[in-house]
Amino acid sequence: MNKREKILIVDDERFNITILVDLLGGDYDTIIAKNGEQALKRIQSATRPDIVLLDIMMPEMDGYEVCRRLKADPRTENIPVIFISALNQPGDEEKGLELGAVDYISKPFSPTLVKLRVRNHLRLKRQSDILHNLALIDGLTGIPNRRRFDEYLGQQWRNAVTNNLPLSLIMMDIDFFKHYNDTYGHTAGDDCLRTVAQSLVDAVSRETDLVARYGGEEFVCLLPDTDAEGAAKIGAQLREAVLALEAPHDQSQVAPHVTLSLGAATMVPNPDETPTSLVEQADKLLYSAKQQGRNRLLT
Ligand code: GH3
Ligand code: MG
Ligand code: MG
Repeated sequence: MNKREKILIVDDERFNITILVDLLGGDYDTIIAKNGEQALKRIQSATRPDIVLLDIMMPEMDGYEVCRRLKADPRTENIPVIFISALNQPGDEEKGLELGAVDYISKPFSPTLVKLRVRNHLRLKRQSDILHNLALIDGLTGIPNRRRFDEYLGQQWRNAVTNNLPLSLIMMDIDFFKHYNDTYGHTAGDDCLRTVAQSLVDAVSRETDLVARYGGEEFVCLLPDTDAEGAAKIGAQLREAVLALEAPHDQSQVAPHVTLSLGAATMVPNPDETPTSLVEQADKLLYSAKQQGRNRLLT
């Protein structure tokens, strides 16, 4: 059974809420908010709605302002908003769509049209989510790709700045992988990348940790709210996870099986720096790990 989609209905008049809940409650989970502030609270909660039906004229914070704030927050900007309003001048609709709403329905509304428009916008949202997720997965290994990593790094960097938290990043590269391909063939090389990728994903445990393929035979791991000591521990775990595979590598000059070199960097980010500095720091340490003989973690 698919999970029922959630609709947030925002209106300051109980009568309107009742009509919309009656209309949509059979097909969807409905959540209600009676003013702008409540709406923002519901939208930012863990049980984020899939779509928002938003009244415009409300005391204190109006619907336009709710929409503006929603669209300004990267965590909520992709939630579709449909205005349902008694304001019916062309300028009102224009303003609503200009703010990023997907649709504008005038009151009094036709119940059938509201139902159909909600259904259509939810379908579009589902499709765009599927495409978005596909674009963030590496085709060969099935783990998150570089694009997903960059996106997540940006989010976690901002979060670390706001909350003054440490952020750690581990850059990893398979040792002598060119020799691996030369020895066992490119298809076996691909299989090896898949196995290594999965073992790295399995080696981290926190919900917020992210392992991604950075490119070629390079992987990266982002550890939010993790200090240098924690990063060293996870780095050792990642290295050992690949060692434990005991994947034969005859032509490696450091071990009889596949090994990793790793660089682990930690920062408490401040607004004057960019996430690139953290990547560069980890990359430098990885380079030194290679220089010093490979199959090791530098911190
Ligand atoms: P080092 O220990 O210095 O990292 O040596 P290396 O041979 O691993 O590094 P180098 O950068 O010289 O070579 C990386 C190799 O990784 C070259 C390329 O053939 C291989 N590689 C990159 N992407 C893929 C892939 O998708 N599939 C396969 N089979 N091999 C790949
Ligand atoms: Mg390599
Ligand atoms: Mg490389």
